[in-house]
Amino acid sequence: MVKYTCYNCGATVELDEIRETVRCPYCGGRILMKKRPEGGHHVKAR
Ligand SMILES: [Zn+2]
Repeated sequence: MVKYTCYNCGATVELDEIRETVRCPYCGGRILMKKRPEGGHHVKAR
């Protein structure tokens, strides 16, 4: 399950499969930001 956050309305959309055209079911926005899993910031070991 992949979660996306809509840039337009800020709704969280869960999708099983990623299609070429991903649209927000709430506002119809085409721009969805892929939500990162826990951990967020990637830290490189020094
Ligand atoms: Zn939306």
